[in-house]
Amino acid sequence: MQEYLLFESSFHIVKSISPPYLMHLEKHQVPGPKSAELLALSKQHEPPCMADQVPLVWDHAEDVWVYDVDGNRYLDFTSGVLVANVGHSHPRHVEAIRRQAGRLMNCYSFPTPERIQLSARLAEILPANLDKIFLLTTGAEATEAAIRIAKRYSGKHEILAFSGAFHGRTYGAMSVAGSMNTRRKFGPALPGGIVAPYAYCFRCAYDKTYPECDFYCVKILDRIVESASSGDLGAVITEPYQGGAGFINPPKGWLKELARWAQDRSLLLIVDEVQSSFGRTGKMFAIEWEDVKVNMICIGKGIGSGMPASALAGESEIFSCMEPGEMSSTTGGNPLSSAAALAVIDIMEKEHLPEKAHETGAYLLKRLNELKAKYECIGDARGMGLALGLEIVENKTTKTPSVALCRKIILGAAQYGLMMGKVGIYGNVIRVAPPLTINQQECDLAIAILDKALSEL
Ligand code: PLP
Repeated sequence: MQEYLLFESSFHIVKSISPPYLMHLEKHQVPGPKSAELLALSKQHEPPCMADQVPLVWDHAEDVWVYDVDGNRYLDFTSGVLVANVGHSHPRHVEAIRRQAGRLMNCYSFPTPERIQLSARLAEILPANLDKIFLLTTGAEATEAAIRIAKRYSGKHEILAFSGAFHGRTYGAMSVAGSMNTRRKFGPALPGGIVAPYAYCFRCAYDKTYPECDFYCVKILDRIVESASSGDLGAVITEPYQGGAGFINPPKGWLKELARWAQDRSLLLIVDEVQSSFGRTGKMFAIEWEDVKVNMICIGKGIGSGMPASALAGESEIFSCMEPGEMSSTTGGNPLSSAAALAVIDIMEKEHLPEKAHETGAYLLKRLNELKAKYECIGDARGMGLALGLEIVENKTTKTPSVALCRKIILGAAQYGLMMGKVGIYGNVIRVAPPLTINQQECDLAIAILDKALSEL
């Protein structure tokens, strides 16, 4: 039996002062009996179209640890799909929600101090040109709002997007998606979505290699637009890295090159940071890595760190194309979510979580690369901060995606107490995205578990 030293689970303030204890890599059954019973009930009453996850039922969570209904404990490498950036149930987050829940939870579009303060705080931490904030509830709502405003402001109906892109499940977002499982068998999308290959260097659409390619994938955009556009292109939408497509990170400089291309053609640039914002990549917003000027930015997930919240931030001039009453959302900017988001910003700053994500992420990526060198089925280990992915392949030469191996690794790791999920255009990428509060000892434990699961394949 292998043993690993680990600090006591709890928030990292406590982590550093608690005595270490031994964690045994013992296998448990997944799903456990209580999970199995609930999953059977779920099968009867919940639609089968929900995400394909490890078969277990979450009960509660604390910081980087999740407990299932059978009492099994897991290191959480999902963050509940990149949501729990400040750690699950951070005490200050919980306290802010409790306090607000007893005061006022919703009042539709009447202003509240919490909503106004959140807009002001976001404007403060965003680039100066993004000074208007429209608060919403989900990521798809934020991307939909961006699309609506881009069309109204530019007076043009076409939007350039990228293959593999995921901007949400609503129709507007679907129409600028490049992911098949978002569009497949849903009939014609809204007109105007033009899709170009993304900078997926591990599987380059043009069979080129970076940096010799000199951003060929941006340079060729004119030809793509020329053949697909009716001459009515008004905006470009992109993610800074594609999470849903499998943590595909374009090479440094790509976003800047794209921003330059868009600006030269007077196109609006919308960056979808629903997933990449709030410290995930090691900066509060991923665009900070590239020093690019964008016209609108969509924020979600980590902003609420568990409470439903999202936002569209944009330039005043762009928002001025909308008349009062033309945009609304029943729960957008509700005081409960706003109070939670204000607490998140506070925690992020006080605990330096973006910087921590940068540091711990670099360490974790180094450790993942060690596994890549050891195992033939790990084709690529990549990402920034704590938004990392492991691309699972049959072998490194053919790079044939292997969904079956990916599933086996995820289940094997869960049996030893590591919770992961799978994503990707081919469904063969393991998501490595723990809460930003994770420390190096916890990363070491995760690597040990992953190593064990891989060795047992
Ligand atoms: N945009 C991106 C980049 C996302 O990753 C997601 C969700 O995964 C969305 C939009 C949609 O967000 P939501 O599921 O909150 O609607």
